[in-house]
Amino acid sequence: MTVRVRLAPSPTGTLHIGTARTALFNWLFAKKNAGKFLLRIEDTDKERSSPKFLENILEGLKWLNLDWDEQLTIQSSRIEEHKKAIKTLLKRGLAYRCYATDNELEEMRKSQKLQGKPPRYDNRCRDLNEAEEKKYISEGRSSVIRFRIDESQSIEWDDLIRGAMTWSGQDLGGDMVISRRTNNSEIGEPLYNLAVVIDDAAMEISHVIRGEDHIANTAKQILLYEALGLKTPKFAHTPLILNSEGKKLSKRDGVTSISDFKEMGYTSESLTNYMALLGWSIPEGMNERFTLQEASKLFSFNKVNKSGAKFDWDKLNWLNSQVIHELPPEKLFKSVEPLLIKNGWKIPSQKWGNDLSTLIGPSLVTFNDFLKEAKPFFEEPSLQEDGANQLQATGAKEAISALINELEENPWNGEDLNKAKDLIQNTFSKTKIKKGVIMKSLRAALLGNLKGPDLISTWGLLAQMSKDINRLKKCLD
Ligand code: GLU
Repeated sequence: MTVRVRLAPSPTGTLHIGTARTALFNWLFAKKNAGKFLLRIEDTDKERSSPKFLENILEGLKWLNLDWDEQLTIQSSRIEEHKKAIKTLLKRGLAYRCYATDNELEEMRKSQKLQGKPPRYDNRCRDLNEAEEKKYISEGRSSVIRFRIDESQSIEWDDLIRGAMTWSGQDLGGDMVISRRTNNSEIGEPLYNLAVVIDDAAMEISHVIRGEDHIANTAKQILLYEALGLKTPKFAHTPLILNSEGKKLSKRDGVTSISDFKEMGYTSESLTNYMALLGWSIPEGMNERFTLQEASKLFSFNKVNKSGAKFDWDKLNWLNSQVIHELPPEKLFKSVEPLLIKNGWKIPSQKWGNDLSTLIGPSLVTFNDFLKEAKPFFEEPSLQEDGANQLQATGAKEAISALINELEENPWNGEDLNKAKDLIQNTFSKTKIKKGVIMKSLRAALLGNLKGPDLISTWGLLAQMSKDINRLKKCLD
């Protein structure tokens, strides 16, 4: 069997991490089985769908390198196919018009609630005779179309993640609406379960891989496949992503959109790596840091957990720092350069940028940390408490003045770092101030505090921007 899987997002919101993880599992399964990963945009909810969300979803998938095969399918362009299927069901007596008004349905639900029963449609229009139908139509009622659900049957499938699944026909809420309310001579807008079945069949989808929140839909969809004589695909229901309290991760938990993670300075490599770990137990001996290609060789649904996966920022941060630390300085700088330029910072040269990346790269967790660490190179740092104390310490001012004299006598362009060592040595020889004091005072003068990366390299980069002498002089004022 040729494996053909799909992601079917609705452009009613930005690309959520849950959808992206579903995309990833589909993509990995397709690659592992030399199959195809397709994309279908389910845009039939006109009110909530928007081109800006569509763009966000497509950009997010591209950024994550989850490239899809074949042409994108737009569900709204297939509406006539969906309606054709509804007509077939009507003709075969497997679907019927229901004239119950919204108010009547609301009354029905209220009374079910009073009796402590779960809400369900009571199939009241299932067997209307001609006279009854005529009466409803003459009353000016509109209708939805419902698909008959035989409540005595149980629906079974072998889920790739959950094994044998059984769903009772009684638990599907009564005969299912397959098209929206309209006048009685037309077919109203087809609804989700119907459209998905028609499209998945047309796209020859072999495996439907989606979140466990779709399990009840799967039961309904299997009935539609059977009623329409279509080949039922296999199903895999992936575990949900949970927040720290064990509830489904939602917008209320803060960052959930792929574009937000990107904005925060996460790499697509670490995000796909992390998402794969959300639910997939990697084979023994496999390192937790892996590439998409490595994962695609080993991925299997046998190793995907049934229970929800808790989102863990520490793990994501660890993976992100691994990915950033693996980047050669040139690549790292290329990734962050647009951020620096956006801040209005002028970069002296490409080499300078690469050297800065070598210096601060090892301390970064996200690309945005680069901005924090690079800031003192572009903007005058403010004097922190530890820096201020250092500059008050015995010998500090004297050391700085001596350094200024040295620099004025032997100007340094910041390139040859050995020269910096000579400057410090000369200062020590002339003033006899301890080298530790000289170095700490220099750091306080250049950066405003006593923390930070290697001092000599920092000084070199600042000297190349001609910012060192000024800062030394300023702290004497
Ligand atoms: N449009 C549905 C969603 O976004 C698709 C579900 C499915 O994969 O069938 O939830």
